[in-house]
Formats: sequence, C-alpha cells, structure tokens
Amino acid sequence: MKVLKPGVDKLRTWKKVVVCNGKGCYVKNSKSDLVPCEAELEINYKDIFHARTGVTPYDTFYLIKCPDCGSYTGIVATDLPDYIKSYADKRTEQDIDNERGAASGSPAPGIHGKNDKTSGDYLDLE
Ligand SMILES: [Zn+2]
Repeated sequence: MKVLKPGVDKLRTWKKVVVCNGKGCYVKNSKSDLVPCEAELEINYKDIFHARTGVTPYDTFYLIKCPDCGSYTGIVATDLPDYIKSYADKRTEQDIDNERGAASGSPAPGIHGKNDKTSGDYLDLE
C-alpha cells in the first residue's frame, strides 16, 4: 500500500484544558483531605485514568490527578473521544504516578506519603 497523504495520530495529538477543581471526584479527594488548587492544566492522553470508587458498581470515572496539589478531578466521559477512553480504560493511577516519577525524577510531593523522606526505606520493595 502507498500512503498518499499521511494521517494524524489522533491519540497522541489530543489535548484538553481542564481546571483542577475536584469536581466529579468527591470520594477520592475527601478521603485524602486534598483541596483542589484550581490550576489550569493542559491534559493529554497519558494524563487520564479510569477509576472505580467502589461506592456503587456504576461509580466509574475518568480522572486526572493534578501535578501541583495531587487532587483528582473527574472528566465527563462525553467530553472524551472514544480513542481517549479506550486508552484510559487500560490505565491506572499507578501507571500515571510511575510515568511522572520517571519523567521528572521527583513526583509531586505529599501524595500518599510516597515522598515522605521518613518512609522511603519502607517503601523499597526491591
Ligand atoms: Zn491542583
């Protein structure tokens, strides 16, 4: 086959601006006492994950986690293209934490106590 005109990588070029406001994610933020910081964030396909709160079997959300304050904000599913949802369906919060940690070398502080200097030794499972 011959490509006459190259296509667009829709997944990797998709972007959306969201505000860290904690909406759509009441349970997670209240459990961890996080206060959404109202940061304006440009998200891409790698920032969204699929989470279940466990409140009801239908309580499933697409979420982002703010890199500044660690709060979660829900993204309305109807605002997301199908290819983004398909990708996010396979992602967990841990995937995003791991990638951010690897990329920056220092994940956002204070989230789940991961960077608590006193607990570092206990978290090393190697
Ligand atoms: Zn925030």
